[in-house]
Amino acid sequence: MIKEIPFWWATAPELPGYADKPLPQRADVVVIGSGYTGLSAARSLAQRGVNVVVLEKETIGWGASSRNGGQVLTGLAVGPEALIKQVGVGRAREMHAASLRGLDFIEELIRAEQIDCDFQRVGHIEAACKPAHFAHFQHAQELLAREFNHPIRLLDRSQQRDELGTNYYHGVLIDERSAGVQPAKYVRGLARAAERAGAQLHEKTPALAIERSAAGWRVFTPRGPIGANEVLIATNGYTDAAAPALRKRIIPVGSYLIATEPLPAEVAAKILPRRRMVYDSKNFLAYFRLSSDNRLVFGGRAEYKVSSPQTTRRSVSILRRGMIEIFPELANTPIEYSWSGNVCFTFDRLPRIGRMNGLHYALAYAGHGVSLATYLGAQAADFISGTGGQTPFADRPFDPIPLYNGTPWFMPLGALWYKLLDVVG
Ligand SMILES: Cc1cc2nc3c(=O)[nH]c(=O)nc-3n(C[C@H](O)[C@H](O)[C@H](O)COP(=O)(O)OP(=O)(O)OC[C@H]3O[C@@H](n4cnc5c(N)ncnc54)[C@H](O)[C@@H]3O)c2cc1C
Repeated sequence: MIKEIPFWWATAPELPGYADKPLPQRADVVVIGSGYTGLSAARSLAQRGVNVVVLEKETIGWGASSRNGGQVLTGLAVGPEALIKQVGVGRAREMHAASLRGLDFIEELIRAEQIDCDFQRVGHIEAACKPAHFAHFQHAQELLAREFNHPIRLLDRSQQRDELGTNYYHGVLIDERSAGVQPAKYVRGLARAAERAGAQLHEKTPALAIERSAAGWRVFTPRGPIGANEVLIATNGYTDAAAPALRKRIIPVGSYLIATEPLPAEVAAKILPRRRMVYDSKNFLAYFRLSSDNRLVFGGRAEYKVSSPQTTRRSVSILRRGMIEIFPELANTPIEYSWSGNVCFTFDRLPRIGRMNGLHYALAYAGHGVSLATYLGAQAADFISGTGGQTPFADRPFDPIPLYNGTPWFMPLGALWYKLLDVVG
C-alpha cells in the first residue's frame, strides 16, 4: 500500500501544535503563510524586536516547503541565455549573483540555528535528454563562465557513468555549488528558529480577507480579526481569495513525487555515486535524488494541474514508468510514498518581491525556492523594517495575466505545447 503523504513528513520531528493559542488583537506585522518565505521573514523581523504573527491555514510548513525535492540549486528556472535575453546582461548578472547569495544565506542560517536537516553541498547534475541539449550545455558553460564567472563541468555520454548510473541521458552538466536538504526537517527547524526569535505562530488559522483600517490593516480569520501595521503575503502556489490581486499574476502548477523503499547500498552507489541532486533538460522534466536512507526520491510534472489527491494518485504510474526508463534495475523496487504540491510561476518564470496595493509579497520561485524563498523572505523583512537594500527581483513588470482569475484553465493546452516541444526540441 503506497502511503499518500510526503516521505519527508515521516522522517521529520513533529512540531508542537500551534492551533489553539489565543490570537492577539494586534501585531506590528502579520505574515500570511508559514513556508520558507513567511518563516524566514518572521525570524528576521522578530530578531529586530518586531512583534510578528504568522497565520497558516493548514499546519506549519504544510505547503511546498515540506513537500519539495530538497534540491538547493544555483541559478533560476530561466537558464542563462534566456535570462540575458529577457532582462539584459546587467540584471541577469544581479539575479544570478542573488541566487548564489541565497545559497550562502540558507547555509549560514542552518548553521547559525543548528537545524538538523541533512544540508550538504553535494552539487547538482543537469542531464541532457537529447544530443542537442548537451550542445546547449556547452553554450551555457561558456556563457556562465564569461558573463557570470561561474564555472561548471560537462561530461559527455561516454564519461557520465562516473556521475549518473544510466545510459538514458546524452551527457551531463555538473555544478558543485548546489546542495541537498531534507525539506520538512528544514522548514520545521526554521519554524522553531522563528519562534525562538519571538515570532508567534498560529496554524489552522486562514486569512480570509485583508482590509485597510485607520491603524493600518485588519486581517480577518475564522478566529476573529487581527490588526497590523504591515502585512506580508507569503502564500506562493497556494495563494487564495485572501490575495485576489496576486492570484491574477501567478500560476500554480502541480509537481509530483514518489519515494521507493530504501535501495541496497550497492544499487544506490551505482545509480548516484556522489549523491548529487539531479534534474533533466525536458520541459516536462524529471528530478531525482537519494534520501539519507537511500530511497530514490523521483519527481516530475506528471500532470500540468494544480495538485489534488486524484492527480497525485494518477501520477504514481507515470512517475514509476519514467523512473524505470532511466533506471531499469528499479523495475521491481516497491514505491512506498507518493505526494504532490504546487509550484508557483509568474508568466516570465522569474520571482517577484515588492508591495502591491500596500501589501508586501515575495513569491514565485518557479521550482528554485528552497534557497530563494528563504533569502527573499529575509529581504522582505528588510523592506518592511525600512532597512531594505537592492534586489533584482523588485521593480519589475508584474501585470495581471490576461483572461485569468487564478484558475489556470489554460494548463492542459500549455501541457500539450510543452510536450510537443519535448518531442521536437
Ligand atoms: C513538489 C515540489 C517540488 C519542488 N522541488 C523543489 C526543489 O527541489 N528545489 C527548490 O528550490 N524548490 C522546489 N520547489 C519549490 C519550493 O518548494 C517553493 O518555492 C518554496 O517552498 C516556497 O516557499 P513559500 O514559503 O513561498 O511557499 P509555501 O511553502 O507553499 O507556503 C505557503 C503557505 O501559505 C499557506 N496559505 C495559503 N493561503 C493562506 C491563507 N489565506 N491564510 C493562511 N495561510 C495560507 C499555505 O497553506 C502554505 O503552507 C518544489 C515545489 C514543489 C511543490
